[in-house]
Amino acid sequence: MSVQGKTAVITGSTSGIGLGIAWELARGGVKVVLNSFSDSDEDHAIARQITDETGTEARYVQADMSKPDQCRALIGEAGACDILINNAGIQHVAPIDEFPTEKWDAIIAIMLSSAFHTTAAALPVMRKAGWGRVINIASAHGLTASPYKSAYVAAKHGIVGMTKVVALETAREPITANAICPGYVLTPLVEGQIPDTMEKYGMGREEVIEKVMLERQPSKEFATTGQLGGTALFLCSDAAAQITGTTISVDGGWTAL
Ligand code: NAD
Repeated sequence: MSVQGKTAVITGSTSGIGLGIAWELARGGVKVVLNSFSDSDEDHAIARQITDETGTEARYVQADMSKPDQCRALIGEAGACDILINNAGIQHVAPIDEFPTEKWDAIIAIMLSSAFHTTAAALPVMRKAGWGRVINIASAHGLTASPYKSAYVAAKHGIVGMTKVVALETAREPITANAICPGYVLTPLVEGQIPDTMEKYGMGREEVIEKVMLERQPSKEFATTGQLGGTALFLCSDAAAQITGTTISVDGGWTAL
């Protein structure tokens, strides 16, 4: 079954990986629903730009992924949801004994609980349509850990587990659920970690990128948002119809170490 004309809802897609996935899906003929918590002119302008350049319908729907009712409302407001990409994310880095409770709560809400709520709302829509793809953007940190990222690592391991449950619950239906596990991708989320890391290690920007960020990424290259979009498009293809309940790493060899 072709993905042309299907509708994808991509949480947290005005920036970085979510936006890269939106572009690739739109180029593949998939209608995209962009989302973020803000409701600015720029958010709607991104959707218009995608429509103008790809000829595919793109819309922006505001919804705060830290709020359960807004997660569920996003699926309703999208009008259709053949492909659900749970991508919204934030980061906070601190030792566990100093980790602020409100940051822990926000990370778990935005990166784990939101996917529970959107998936719960989307599955009946997919079942009615007779086809569906749930794609969770986890991380190499869904399979391994790093110090100072307790909430992030917990949320990402959690979403890998939830992906498997969704796959088992939909195994006899034309619906699949998988997690993509990127290594480092140079997005605003990662850019935001560079200044603190420079200060922490007394290093310059290039040194932080090479010796800290890409230290565990054997390719020594960032993965790109376009590559992640291509991976998502593949998971939507017929070739991937029997791929379910698993993880696909796009991490330059990180998890092979
Ligand atoms: P980013 O900061 O560029 O984009 C995050 C997006 O999430 C933005 O559109 C932002 O507006 C949105 N968002 C944040 N809080 C939200 C909320 N409460 N409600 C709705 N939207 C919200 O980050 P990114 O690097 O593109 O990360 C996207 C996903 O990829 C995250 O889940 C992240 O954990 C994961 N990831 C990123 C990397 C990386 O190296 N960049 C690696 C592995 C996994």
